[in-house]
Amino acid sequence: MSQDITITLNRIAETYVKLVLSLGQHDDSYVDSFYGPVKFLQEVKKEQKSLSDIRLMGQRAIAELNDLNMSSETEIIQLRQQYLKTQLTSLLARVDMLTGKKFSFDEEAKALYDVIPPSFTESHFQKIVAEMDTLLSGKGSVNEKYNQFKKEFIIPKDKLDQVFKSAITECRNRTKEHIDLPDNENFTIEYLNDKPWSGYNWYKGDSFSLIQMNTDLPIYIDRAVDLAAHEGYPGHHVYNSLLESILYKKYGWVEASVYALFSPQSLIAEGTANFGIDVVLPGKDRIEFEKKILFPIAGMDSNKAERYYQIHELFLKLGYAGNEAARGYLNGTMTRDEAAAWLVKYALMSPDRAQQRTRFFDTYRSYVINYNLGQDLVKQYIEKRGGTPDKPQQRWEEFKKLISSPRLPSGLM
Ligand SMILES: [Zn+2]
Repeated sequence: MSQDITITLNRIAETYVKLVLSLGQHDDSYVDSFYGPVKFLQEVKKEQKSLSDIRLMGQRAIAELNDLNMSSETEIIQLRQQYLKTQLTSLLARVDMLTGKKFSFDEEAKALYDVIPPSFTESHFQKIVAEMDTLLSGKGSVNEKYNQFKKEFIIPKDKLDQVFKSAITECRNRTKEHIDLPDNENFTIEYLNDKPWSGYNWYKGDSFSLIQMNTDLPIYIDRAVDLAAHEGYPGHHVYNSLLESILYKKYGWVEASVYALFSPQSLIAEGTANFGIDVVLPGKDRIEFEKKILFPIAGMDSNKAERYYQIHELFLKLGYAGNEAARGYLNGTMTRDEAAAWLVKYALMSPDRAQQRTRFFDTYRSYVINYNLGQDLVKQYIEKRGGTPDKPQQRWEEFKKLISSPRLPSGLM
């Protein structure tokens, strides 16, 4: 490893962090978390960089990264250079958006998240919905039958906290068997209303997360493990803790102290958080845990768990229907009501949830792809390296390696 390269990368990393913080002054949602040097914040506050200053500095940093000769560097150092370049390129695209440049849905996804999302035709979803129709009994449309079926599996409000805490404890214990976490790692859970998302992890640094749950709409039993794994263990909380303890504190890479929300890093964060559900509680283990612990706490009939998850599994195949609604809505080929109607028809959402989801599109736009495409790319990447479902040890190993490295979406292909 060349000393010069390290010095240059450290300097550019510092510029990167300051540019992310500066962009955060123009875009409230941009900085998702920051636990780096406080003096950076003070400096950025004092300078109040304009968007054109940010653009210019970003362009210079990218040019400098391009000029580095990385051929004799180790893989991790090469990844670091790629990471800085890709994150900065995305940052410039966000500056373009804030200065009025219009991107199509696919252009925006590529520019911000370093991937081109796949497209699916209506008939793809029609087939799955038809399959769903034959699986569900009752009268009415598939959507009505599905939402009727699910009614029994709404977690009662007074049981929410106990159900979530049990799910988190299970996911945490299982994760700790495979991943060393800092001794002081911890989290709190808050319940609140009127947000465009269903759950959120606010990482505060020093291995501490504030996990928030939105209770606007009914919460079904499957969300307990999903949210516990996604927001907590081995999802966002663990991902951020490892970035902080390994990349930032151990290696001294300051870029790991900031998390830019509309950036390629989010595809890795959301993709690993979603894939992590299957890593921490795969197939049978999950059903067993739900039957033995969660269903009884929620006052549900454990004998119905298998059927619930059989239908849920088919439902998950409709995941990309949401992306199509977002694409249509953001490209202007669907109105809000049309996008919501599509979500009702092909994502089988209740009308209320579909409206909530269109508000998510307003705020987060093409961010939606990070969940399902992210999950698929992470799954392919880990399984290609031998982390298949029948080799859980290897699956955890590869998962851990991925969440403690600066690898980005294009690096998963
Ligand atoms: Zn998430």
